[in-house]
Amino acid sequence: MHYTGEDSAADALRTLSDPRLEVSAHYRISRDRTIYQLVDERLRAWHAGVANWGGDSDINSSSIGIELDNNGNEDFAESEIGALLALLADLQGRYRIPPDHVLGHGAVAPRRKLDAGRQFPWRRLAEAGFGRWCDKPYPSAPPDFDAVLGLRALG
Ligand SMILES: [Zn+2]
Repeated sequence: MHYTGEDSAADALRTLSDPRLEVSAHYRISRDRTIYQLVDERLRAWHAGVANWGGDSDINSSSIGIELDNNGNEDFAESEIGALLALLADLQGRYRIPPDHVLGHGAVAPRRKLDAGRQFPWRRLAEAGFGRWCDKPYPSAPPDFDAVLGLRALG
């Protein structure tokens, strides 16, 4: 999952449709809950870039990319998250995707990407059966903790 990093849906669609930019995703969900299918699920979309998860370094060939309209500094629209949960339920049912394989871009490209971002409602997704969530209080990480190694241990 990604955020578009754009302020408007029109800008996001322009970016995702421009072949010169070499960026694409299977789905884009707008703030008004409209789901746009931009790439057939059977085809490879260019959404993950240099990434790694579970020993797989070709994430674009083994995943479905979902872009959420969000500039990265705003709360996600409730209607947008509702549409995302419906899409995830559909995809999980058809592809039997394990809950902890529902990931943000930052998890598969941790030094390069931050999305789906700080405002992304991971707790809500986990309560619906997607992704991971840990309630506070969080245990303290050791002073020499390497977050990338920690992510490698997960996936
Ligand atoms: Zn991304």
